[in-house]
Amino acid sequence: MTNSETEVAIIGGGAAGIAAGRRLRATGIDCLLIEARPRLGGRAWTVTDQSGFALDLGCGWLHSADRNPWTKIAEAQGRTIDRTPPPWTRPALPIRFPLDEQQDFRKSMSELYDRLEAILAKGGDVPAANALKPGGRWNNLLTAVGTYISGAELNLISGRDFINYQDSEVNWSIIEGYGATIAAAGTELRTSLESPVSRIDHNGQKLKIESAKGTITAGQAIVTLPTAVLAENERLFSPALPQKTQAARGLPLGLADKLFIALADAEEFEPNSRVFGHTDRIATASYQLRPFGRPQIEAYFGGNHAAALEAEGERAFFDFAVTELTALFGSTFARRVKPMHMHRWGADPFARGSYSYALPGMTECRAALAAPVNGRLFFAGEACSRGDFSTAHGGWITGVSAAEQVIAVRQGRSL
Ligand SMILES: Cc1cc2nc3c(=O)[nH]c(=O)nc-3n(C[C@H](O)[C@H](O)[C@H](O)COP(=O)(O)OP(=O)(O)OC[C@H]3O[C@@H](n4cnc5c(N)ncnc54)[C@H](O)[C@@H]3O)c2cc1C
Repeated sequence: MTNSETEVAIIGGGAAGIAAGRRLRATGIDCLLIEARPRLGGRAWTVTDQSGFALDLGCGWLHSADRNPWTKIAEAQGRTIDRTPPPWTRPALPIRFPLDEQQDFRKSMSELYDRLEAILAKGGDVPAANALKPGGRWNNLLTAVGTYISGAELNLISGRDFINYQDSEVNWSIIEGYGATIAAAGTELRTSLESPVSRIDHNGQKLKIESAKGTITAGQAIVTLPTAVLAENERLFSPALPQKTQAARGLPLGLADKLFIALADAEEFEPNSRVFGHTDRIATASYQLRPFGRPQIEAYFGGNHAAALEAEGERAFFDFAVTELTALFGSTFARRVKPMHMHRWGADPFARGSYSYALPGMTECRAALAAPVNGRLFFAGEACSRGDFSTAHGGWITGVSAAEQVIAVRQGRSL
């Protein structure tokens, strides 16, 4: 692509950008999806392993699946939805974590939410960690689980944002991959891949969007970039939009990374069973054994722990996992496992993290980020959602909403 023109430019071809593009296209509005990577999907990314299994390196769970728009899209694409309840809603293997302790831990998790609600009922905001019981037995494991949920430790996260998350508690998955489903949903859109956008000039009558493949002229644009990318790129907009940079900085991307491990003699374990590496520390991983019944382990790392391992390189994740797994299952277990696939989302220049959380006191940044500018620049992406942030369906919902704002403005209706 060299210089080109479109009615609406959509910047970023992840869940939000694809949703916006589909909504505009359905209304007959010409749009162009401008994506930095050589593929669609963004933080939704399915790769295929040697045995042909689809591995989701980014989003895997259809959270709030009973009201998640991607469920219907996956079904329309002929995909297979696995409705098995997720491992975290069932007891973990009782290895070094007896069932009565697991029950006590689950109770402390629900008490954490109750205490947070009680603290916030008085108004204002506090770090989510303020609701930990002082000296509580499970505080480290609660914080570790917090890093899986939010990508950051509970002391960094806004307690109000944490409880704003809306969860129908129905979680399904797609055997052929969530990432593959999202990318396939964008195939009919006009797309410019490998076109990182470096500048959005909104000085003149038309927007001028500078990308690696040329300048695109557009009447309006929907910006769906991850907050970490927006936060570090103050000069993206010309004139600058400091309110957007500030909003993005209030909503950093937490870090979560997955490592897929091949497992020999996997039948020893029940499909979709789970263990924590340790129950007494924050720097531990959660292991899903035999996801979809496959001879694999999906290891999940979060927060500062994931960041420290990213700094050491991919091998560090596997070495860490082997140390924890051999401590649980014996030294011979090391011979049964081999690293397969992973992606370091923090090191990825087009993500710079995994999913957004709000800093304490910054919950309103979600609405500030989502607010349109001068009827020409519109914003979407998981971080713009008040209650479905950090998810692929949050991406979809905000993408559709931004497209509807564009349509309203074009029809002369007020927003
Ligand atoms: C390990 C991991 C596990 C997860 N698990 C789940 C889960 O189970 N369920 C769930 O719902 N969600 C999960 N998520 C979160 C989910 O993947 C994201 O919330 C969602 O995909 C975000 O969609 P988006 O469109 O808002 O952003 P993105 O997918 O990040 O889309 C933004 C797009 O902008 C592009 N871009 C960046 N810079 C530029 C530029 N300069 N110019 C042009 N394009 C650019 C990016 O390449 C990207 O394609 C997970 C994420 C990770 C990383």
